[in-house]
Amino acid sequence: VAGGIVPPVARLAAEPAVEQRAHASHKGSWGDVAVIGGAPGMRGAALLAATAALHGGAGRVYVGLLDGDAGTLHGQQPDLMFRDPDRLDLDDMHVACGCGGGDAVRARLPRVLEAAASLVLDADALNAIAADPALQEKLRDRGEGRPTVLTPHPLEAARLLQVGVDDVQRDRLQAARLLGERLGCCVVLKGSGTVVAAPGALPHVNPTGNARLAVAGTGDVLAGMIAARLAAGRPPLAAACEAVFAHGRLADRWPAGSHLTAAELARAVHLPGEVSLPPS
Ligand code: AMP
Ligand code: MG
Repeated sequence: VAGGIVPPVARLAAEPAVEQRAHASHKGSWGDVAVIGGAPGMRGAALLAATAALHGGAGRVYVGLLDGDAGTLHGQQPDLMFRDPDRLDLDDMHVACGCGGGDAVRARLPRVLEAAASLVLDADALNAIAADPALQEKLRDRGEGRPTVLTPHPLEAARLLQVGVDDVQRDRLQAARLLGERLGCCVVLKGSGTVVAAPGALPHVNPTGNARLAVAGTGDVLAGMIAARLAAGRPPLAAACEAVFAHGRLADRWPAGSHLTAAELARAVHLPGEVSLPPS
């Protein structure tokens, strides 16, 4: 990653007050989230993101599984709506894409990049974009009106920047900023001291979180949390900072002696400002 002057770091905003739901609001007022992912053997990743989006306040959550077998899940998760990923109407949807998506996600990306109202790209979606300049162009074309948040861990960021993972880790602030500027997106560079950067803004370093999060599936939970904030109408940088902060704080408050799992984390997600204890 190129050197340069390390910018000052913005202070992470304190958590906003509890959202008051207008009495006459309905599920449509709180936004639709669609999760596209869950290749064969990876269905759990998509379900984790969807569960986190639902607990994070999304009005309706659709799941487009890429394992071709979504029918068997109808009714097992009664608050999620399973749909053919190629038939989901994405125009008004806040989409989390990648979560356990495997190779199957690549073919869906052109349509997702063109249609989604807002977008969180994680995991295999990021790997597909790293490997394909045409997808990078489509991503840049989305512009500010249809915001995108990228959530790479250091290795995914290294692939996108075409550098080594050590280069990313040596200067995480700069790596996140560079990636955001190149692709015109908000970037969440995950790991200890998660960095949130967006073009033209000071980068943020998240003060919450700990190594209890170092377990499979916690990144999928974060993607769903960010999608729920976008669905609630938050701007991308705010949505990402709020979700990253809340995700880390859940881990900081996790009961001592109880192992943190991604499934329990997803169910412990709550609205900003509200207190909830993780399930015992
Ligand atoms: P992923 O790498 O996609 O599985 O996502 C893992 C999630 O856990 C990200 O939100 C990371 O920031 C978080 N995480 C993993 N390890 C740590 C750590 N040692 N300290 C703080 N957060 C972590
Ligand atoms: Mg991940």
